[in-house]
Amino acid sequence: MDTSVSRRAVLGRAAAIPVAGAALWALSACDDTPKVEACAGPNNLTVSENTLRKASNYVEQAADPAKNCLGCGFFTPGEGGARCGKCEIFLGPVNAQGHCDSWAARQA
Ligand code: SF4
Repeated sequence: MDTSVSRRAVLGRAAAIPVAGAALWALSACDDTPKVEACAGPNNLTVSENTLRKASNYVEQAADPAKNCLGCGFFTPGEGGARCGKCEIFLGPVNAQGHCDSWAARQA
């Protein structure tokens, strides 16, 4: 059995790598999933705050809009209807449209 690889085959495969990379890039550019801008990126929070948010399953966009931070008793809206506000449980800003496992309905 001949296990040698021809120079032409190696060059052909090497040329295919950039083509595959370009195809993957083009596919990623087609992602039209709406992006939610984070009120506080992980790099702006302490390790413990990131851990707490992760443990509480905090997300910037609630799956159920009826149970977002804006409707939570722990949330204080930002001034002027800002997208980000404060949470009594987390340090740093949270998204008015966000959610975590500690959600509790705001009392009227
Ligand atoms: S406790 Fe959770 S749901 Fe309530 S305001 Fe804070 S992050 Fe939002």
